[in-house]
Amino acid sequence: MGIKGFQGTSLLDFPGRISSLVFWGGCNLTCPFCHNPALVLDPEAYPDLDPADLLATLAERKSFIDGVVISGGEPTLGMGLLPFLEEVKALGLAVKLDTNGLTPQIIAELVDKQLVDYLAIDLKTTPERYPELHSGAVSPDALIETVHLCTEVAVELEYRTTCVPGWVDEDVIIKLGELIDGAPLWALQQYHPEHALCEQAQEATPYSPEQIRSFAEIAGNYAQRVVVRGV
Ligand code: SF4
Repeated sequence: MGIKGFQGTSLLDFPGRISSLVFWGGCNLTCPFCHNPALVLDPEAYPDLDPADLLATLAERKSFIDGVVISGGEPTLGMGLLPFLEEVKALGLAVKLDTNGLTPQIIAELVDKQLVDYLAIDLKTTPERYPELHSGAVSPDALIETVHLCTEVAVELEYRTTCVPGWVDEDVIIKLGELIDGAPLWALQQYHPEHALCEQAQEATPYSPEQIRSFAEIAGNYAQRVVVRGV
């Protein structure tokens, strides 16, 4: 699956850096609460952007951006991600990778080759419930393997959990906390149901800000730093 979208400048998506965003199409999950369903369900509806053109645009922008956020969909499934990142790094730009963490070998290779400076890994619910996030087979072990390899990576790291009712509650936060115990940063995010993939998920009522802050308090027992976003 190729590059489907580009956003020129963002201050929000790469902590401490002004960045451009590149979106890959396709995903190995179909989360009912997915915020980007068009890229997941029908990526072929969007033309592929030419990586060479995009790199030329990034080269023009490198005097006022610090980095590039690689997002999706699930970008680690993208053919051509590795050579694209080599070119981005050759421009002197930092790379943040947004991933669902289900491709540990690819993540390990990108980190080993020093093509990623910042990893943002989603924790959607407890690993044993991951098979419910897709109609095809999903191995929770892949996520656990990624978490284990990330205890040793020498890159900035954050875990992210969108607090979707029905998928995240206090028990889930505790179980995820035990999984990532000692992680440097865990971001808990408010759920915005408007554009969710499934109708049922669109109708879900988001947690109150107080409830998310109480999840954050629990999360603080496990991660070195916890932030709340979107409330
Ligand atoms: S939320 Fe992320 S992992 Fe889930 S389907 Fe959407 S893009 Fe894929």
